[in-house]
Amino acid sequence: MREITNDRFEALVKQVPVKPRFKRELKFRASTERMDPAQWVETELLPIWNRSGNGGMLLIEVDDILYMVPFEASKPSAGTSGRAKPVICDLCFTWQSGGGGGFVTFYPGKGSDDSVSLLCCMDLACSANVRTKTPASLKSRAQLREDLTNDDRAERLHGRLKNFAARLQLEEAN
Ligand SMILES: [Zn+2]
Repeated sequence: MREITNDRFEALVKQVPVKPRFKRELKFRASTERMDPAQWVETELLPIWNRSGNGGMLLIEVDDILYMVPFEASKPSAGTSGRAKPVICDLCFTWQSGGGGGFVTFYPGKGSDDSVSLLCCMDLACSANVRTKTPASLKSRAQLREDLTNDDRAERLHGRLKNFAARLQLEEAN
């Protein structure tokens, strides 16, 4: 992803048909302050979280096209054992133990009236997960014995995001 500044983000977000209150709650700086310049290049998707940390705006870049889609994240309900079941992320295929995965619902806006829910990494850190840079991804490697390199995983994530953008009929943000 090309690096996005706070000013650019504010200009981009103006074009997304969401309520002003939703926009005011987005915390761009808090969501990006720990990223160094090199990390942007290795980022296919980036959540800009709201104040409550239960949703926000997801930025996606595939084939040099930037998309923005509002989302809400919710923890999976605990089963009869009282513990949430592990999930495998629909986007990055990372195995997540109970608390690390959940439902993320996306609201595509103009192109389609339907929201789409996926089982995902709750922190949407899928770009770091496919590059084996997180504790969750290390755990996942032990659980799912896939013979893939980090590049293969990044490529698969890219393909999934491309399908996702098409399925939600997302429009290019510019
Ligand atoms: Zn993921």
